[in-house]
Amino acid sequence: MKIIDRIQSGLTLSFEVFPPKADKPLEPLHDTLEQLYSLNPDFISCTYGAMGSNKGRNLEVVRSIQQSGKCEALSHYTCVGNSREDVLSALSDYTEAGVENLLALRGDFPAGVAETKGDFAHANELIAFIRSQTSRFSLAAACYPEKHLLAESMDSDIDALLKKQDAGADFLMTQLCYSVENYLRFIDRARKRGVTLPIVAGVLPLLKKDGLVRMTLSNGCSIPAEVASLVGRYGAEEESFRAAGHEFTVSLVQRLIQEGANGIHLYTLNRFEDVADLVRDAGIREKSENSR
Ligand code: FAD
Repeated sequence: MKIIDRIQSGLTLSFEVFPPKADKPLEPLHDTLEQLYSLNPDFISCTYGAMGSNKGRNLEVVRSIQQSGKCEALSHYTCVGNSREDVLSALSDYTEAGVENLLALRGDFPAGVAETKGDFAHANELIAFIRSQTSRFSLAAACYPEKHLLAESMDSDIDALLKKQDAGADFLMTQLCYSVENYLRFIDRARKRGVTLPIVAGVLPLLKKDGLVRMTLSNGCSIPAEVASLVGRYGAEEESFRAAGHEFTVSLVQRLIQEGANGIHLYTLNRFEDVADLVRDAGIREKSENSR
């Protein structure tokens, strides 16, 4: 089933996982996936390590999700490292695996590289190419509530979003954003500029101080004062930080739903318990069922 059809019928719940490194077994991730299915997600996405040694693992993981019959698989796929022929071959592999949903990205550049080393420079070109080849896939694209870290301005980043929309993206998925105010300002600007696609909000549960600092800064995102004060107050005590971070994330998710997000996509970092607590305490499933 195409994810866009699910989104159009009400709030979605979804998770992101990443494949293990090439020399590591898949079983621990399979166990996590089995647990995640018990939370009744609409879809689970799997990241794509462009140019990485575990690139092939992405296909194994999305095949397994799709063939579980428990939810839809959404495969991330990048311009980085891929020629036209590579894209055609990947589309054929995903089709054979039963996958109908792709998140089309430019991809992160590996260290020391500043170009995609493929036939497409930007996500909109990849989306247009896939659309020119087949109508099988529902296509998602990335968006950035605090702008992409390399974009010159929020306006130029919204120009890029309009290009992805014009190329045929069906919906958008956000980068993490801990500031609801910045998220809302972005939605308002994007809508005023003509972005009409549904927007699924990506949420990285706030559970570890070091992870928070690393992920927000490396993605060019802000740490709002409320979060900074949690770091100041509980940064030295792992368990207290986790408890306060959980409370913060529950309220963040509730606010995003209240403000009209089309879905909540939780970056699980391949962990189950924290995500299960969040889904329960934020009442995401109940809100999702009420919205249908
Ligand atoms: P683009 O849309 O190409 O944008 C990149 C930059 O170029 C932006 O600054 C934009 O403003 C500008 N731009 C866009 N289009 C044009 C254009 N036509 N002309 C000129 N400038 C343009 N990375 C991975 O490697 N693997 C993953 O699995 C992965 N998953 C992700 C999941 C989500 C939900 C998100 C938000 C990001 C993910 N990323 C992943 C990271 C992503 O690949 C990087 O943020 C990358 O730098 C940008 O990808 P993009 O698709 O937004 O690129």
